[in-house]
Amino acid sequence: MNMKPMKPMPGQQQPVKVDLSQAETLRCEDTNCNNVLFISSTIIKRLSPLVSPTGEEALVPIDVYSCGNCGKVPKTMLKGSGLEGQI
Ligand SMILES: [Zn+2]
Repeated sequence: MNMKPMKPMPGQQQPVKVDLSQAETLRCEDTNCNNVLFISSTIIKRLSPLVSPTGEEALVPIDVYSCGNCGKVPKTMLKGSGLEGQI
């Protein structure tokens, strides 16, 4: 019989008690907008067969959030996407 202690299953993390009222609220970077509601959006990058690990064209989705008011995406979510400052 295997008596080794079970490793915790991935995805079953202990809930962390955090007071979200003390956490910073992400706001739209547009100072005229200042909106706090964001819509889940996806940027899709097309990898050419030359750079794709599989050697075939691949579509790579990047999940970001865009401002529900003006549509702007916070710069921090665009890091590495090549779209910094464009949307
Ligand atoms: Zn906005």
